[in-house]
Amino acid sequence: MRLAILGNGVLANLAALYLRKSTPADTEITIVGPAERGKLPRVGESLIEISTRFLEEQLGLGQYLRKNHNPKFALTYYFKLDLDDPEDRTYSIHCNERAPDNHPSLDGWEGPMARPPAWLINREVFDRDMKQLVTDEPGIERIEGVAKDIEVDREGGHTVTIAEPDGEKRTLEADWVIDVTGRARFLAKRFGLVEKPKTGQRNCFWFHVKDFDPELLTALDALGPQPPAEGEDYHYDRYFTTHHFMGRGNWIWLIPVKGEDGKDHMSVGLTSRPDIYPHEVRSIEQFLEHVSTEHPVVADLVRSGTVEDTSILGNYRYFAKQAYSPDRWCILGDAAYALDPLFSNGLAFGTIQIEQIGEMIRRDCAGELTDKLISDMDKAVWAPVIASQNTITEWYSSMDDPYLSALRLNWIEIAYFYMLLPMVVNRCHYDPKRMGLWRIMQSSAPPFEVPPQLIEARKHFDRVTPDHFIYRGKEKVNLRALEEVDNLGAIRSQIVEGSQLRQRYAEDSLAQLEQAAQAVA
Ligand SMILES: Cc1cc2nc3c(=O)[nH]c(=O)nc-3n(C[C@H](O)[C@H](O)[C@H](O)COP(=O)(O)OP(=O)(O)OC[C@H]3O[C@@H](n4cnc5c(N)ncnc54)[C@H](O)[C@@H]3O)c2cc1C
Repeated sequence: MRLAILGNGVLANLAALYLRKSTPADTEITIVGPAERGKLPRVGESLIEISTRFLEEQLGLGQYLRKNHNPKFALTYYFKLDLDDPEDRTYSIHCNERAPDNHPSLDGWEGPMARPPAWLINREVFDRDMKQLVTDEPGIERIEGVAKDIEVDREGGHTVTIAEPDGEKRTLEADWVIDVTGRARFLAKRFGLVEKPKTGQRNCFWFHVKDFDPELLTALDALGPQPPAEGEDYHYDRYFTTHHFMGRGNWIWLIPVKGEDGKDHMSVGLTSRPDIYPHEVRSIEQFLEHVSTEHPVVADLVRSGTVEDTSILGNYRYFAKQAYSPDRWCILGDAAYALDPLFSNGLAFGTIQIEQIGEMIRRDCAGELTDKLISDMDKAVWAPVIASQNTITEWYSSMDDPYLSALRLNWIEIAYFYMLLPMVVNRCHYDPKRMGLWRIMQSSAPPFEVPPQLIEARKHFDRVTPDHFIYRGKEKVNLRALEEVDNLGAIRSQIVEGSQLRQRYAEDSLAQLEQAAQAVA
């Protein structure tokens, strides 16, 4: 079997490494892409359990991550009680207060917790190192150049025309073509598959800050349980988390990544829905002007350091109508979709796809691949992507409401830890015997959506006070989420447990909203 991987970004190189390890030895793998990235912006520094598991267990990169990148202990969300008052720094802070058991141990790890559940990666370093691993791998051919054209032939093999750096053209024959060309969207554009949502678009402005004062991140009045102290269970330093500051029609990420100079750099980005967020943020001056009122703590941190390499994407969301075809082509990662990164799931969805592609190619090598399985895999890619993205799009209209935002967050995280994560750990996204369970995400009532009666009940009172918040930092993390199980019943029982947890949470919240409404009356 001959595989052509088009692209030289993070997912192209990860796919090449995985397919080399997981397909028969006589599979020929060629990766085609330009040596240099040029001016293409690079983003995506926060991993989650799904992407971490893939990198460590499938590619054996645990020690590499430990030595070269920062640990990530949790996602932290900051909901400010009064966004319009720059003097007020009171935040309801929601953070995971434990991590799933069964994380494979990590030799040499000396920090807090048994080991970090995920990593904060410096993408400049990570992408370069993955490229080098592919170059050093004797079983992968590399062609420097850019794919220019393709003739599709399902039976006889596709012909890809490549322009080399000196302008010369050459061709490559392949049975499978895997398009990982990022925003260039080589196949989706050629086949007329690109869909750009007209509403609910996103803008994003981001940059790195060097030599900043990390203490400024704690210059706020924090409501909610603090991470356990040193010596207690699940103690960790909250600095090493992905920080999310929620605003009106926008949110900001702060991610401390390890610089090659030995000092941390802070990655900072503002993502907004342009139909709701009234400001233009295309420069540091505009960023500081608009963020100073909602989140002076973020503005102070940025001002304390030196800003470098600003990047911008406008109206950037799109989806391909199809990711896998019986004609033996696949579209992977940013070539297929551009996501809102609120839950750091871009690379996680990419690694889910890489495992699916591996399964299809292994079956094809064994003469067992059917068009039905390809079609099922295609539906399986889109189910969590669309469900989670729709939920985030919906969230923007109430992102400035600290109560509703906290509710939505806990809701989504319960669905992640009790449903999505155990299903991925147990191969429900690609094992045909288990994919039936994955269809739960294609249901008409997507699991990430907060019930409408809660949203409705919230309308009955105006002001949110500290005692309104319900924290779920412990319960929302399913301790069994990483358990590998023999039968689907054990995963189902976790899904049911998650539903019951959400049910109890909804009841508690409704009772509390009723009380608040009565107090107002
Ligand atoms: C604002 C924002 C924040 C994000 N944050 C996170 C995060 O915190 N965590 C996370 O997991 N994900 C995050 N993501 C998603 C993450 O950035 C992407 O999933 C990931 O970078 C996609 O990598 P890729 O390999 O698909 O694309 P790229 O890295 O863009 O690679 C595309 C490659 O294709 C090459 N190429 C282009 N045209 C051709 C051609 N014709 N022939 C051959 N090669 C070609 C390019 O040179 C490049 O090397 C974020 C995304 C955005 C927009």
